[in-house]
Amino acid sequence: MGTRVDFMGEELDRMKREGLYGTIRALDGPQGAWIKIDGERYLNLCSNNYLGLANDDRVKVRVKREMTRYGVGPGAVRTIAGTMRIHLELERRLAEFKGAEAAVVLQSGYCANVAAIPTLAGEGDVIFSDSLNHASIIDACRLSRARTVRYEHSDIRDLERQLAEHMDGPGRRLVITDGVFSMDGDIARLPEIVEAAERYGAITAVDDAHGEGVLGRGGRGIVDHFGLHGRVDVEIGTMSKAFGSVGGMIAGSSTLVDFVRQKARPNLFSSAMTVPDAAANLEALEIMSESDGLVRKLWDNGSYLKRRLSEHGFDVGRSETPITPVIIGEAGDARNFSARLFERGVFATAIVYPTVPKGTARIRVMVSAAHGREDLDFGIEQFVRTGTEMGVIGR
Ligand SMILES: *Cc1c(COP(=O)(O)O)cnc(C)c1O
Repeated sequence: MGTRVDFMGEELDRMKREGLYGTIRALDGPQGAWIKIDGERYLNLCSNNYLGLANDDRVKVRVKREMTRYGVGPGAVRTIAGTMRIHLELERRLAEFKGAEAAVVLQSGYCANVAAIPTLAGEGDVIFSDSLNHASIIDACRLSRARTVRYEHSDIRDLERQLAEHMDGPGRRLVITDGVFSMDGDIARLPEIVEAAERYGAITAVDDAHGEGVLGRGGRGIVDHFGLHGRVDVEIGTMSKAFGSVGGMIAGSSTLVDFVRQKARPNLFSSAMTVPDAAANLEALEIMSESDGLVRKLWDNGSYLKRRLSEHGFDVGRSETPITPVIIGEAGDARNFSARLFERGVFATAIVYPTVPKGTARIRVMVSAAHGREDLDFGIEQFVRTGTEMGVIGR
C-alpha cells in the first residue's frame, strides 16, 4: 500500500537533507515596509511590491468601488463571457501609458509568456533565448515546440552568431529576453538586441516584469527607458510586481494584440483577470500616470542601499536597478546569513543554486518606495552585524 506515491515523501526527505527544502512563511497582514510573521514585525526586504501599491488606500477604495459595480469573478474566459468593460479600460490605459498601439491583459506574467511565445513561434521556428531568462519564458518556449537556442547572457556577439547560424529554413525567428534580470538587477542590452534582430529579420520580444513601473519615465518600462517605441514587436509584462496586484500584459501593434486575443491558449482556456485585480491595476496606473514620485523614491532607496552596503565592504554585484544582490558565496552561508537576519528582524531570503550559479549564493534585497531612510538604516545595521559576525565583511 502506498508505494505508488512513496516517491514524493522520499523526494521531500532528500530535499530536506540537502538543504533544498524551502520554508514558506505566512504574512499576518498586508505587504509593506514592515510585515508581521507569527506575531513579530520584520523589515520586509524581499517583496516585489516596488512602489508600495499592494496596500495603497486609493487602490483599495477603487477596488471596493469597482466590486460594487462588477462583482468579483469574471465568470468565464475572455472569449466567451469574461470580458468586462473594466478589462478593456485597463487595456486602453496600459497601451496609452506604455506608448503602444494596443495591449491585452492576462491573468499573470507567467500566463503572458505562455500566451505570447507559443502564439508567435511553433514547430519549424527558432527562438533565441538569453541564458538567464526567467523560468516562465523557458516553460513557454518548451510549450511552443519551436527549437530553442540559448545565447550567452547579454552577449550580443553570441546572439548574432546564433542568428547567423540559423538564417536558413522557412521558419520564423524570435528573440526573447528578460528586460531586467531579476537575480542580478542588470538591464538587457535591448537597443543592440533590436538591431541584431532587425538585421536578421527576427521578431523581438522582451519580458519587462521587473522593469514595469520601475524603468523608463515614471515607470513606463524598458522600451521607454531606451526610447525604442515601435521597434520592439512584443512587450510582455506583469502587474504582479510594481503594480502591487496580480496580472500580466502583452503590448504592441493592434494586429499583435488582436492575434493574441484570438490565438493564445491562456486567453482562450483560462478565465479572465478578476475584477479586484483589474480595478487595482487601473488605480495603480492612475497613480503612476499622475506623478513619478514613487518611482523616484524607489530608485533613491535602491541607490542609497547599494552605496551604503558597498561602503561597508559587501559585494553588491552588477545591478543597474534597485534590485540589490548581496553576494555571499556558498549556499549554506547564504541560508545562514538570511536566518541570522531574520532573528534580527529582517526578512531577506537567500537565493541559491540552481536559481543562481554555484558559488554566487546571495541575499537578494528588494527595496520599495514604501521604505523610509530609517527602515533602510535599520536593515543596513543588521547586514553589517551579521556580515561581521560571519566574516563576510571586514576580513
Ligand atoms: C516575476 C516574473 C514573471 C512572472 O510574473 P507573475 O505575474 O508573477 O506570473 C515573469 N517573467 C519575469 C521576468 C518575472 O520576473
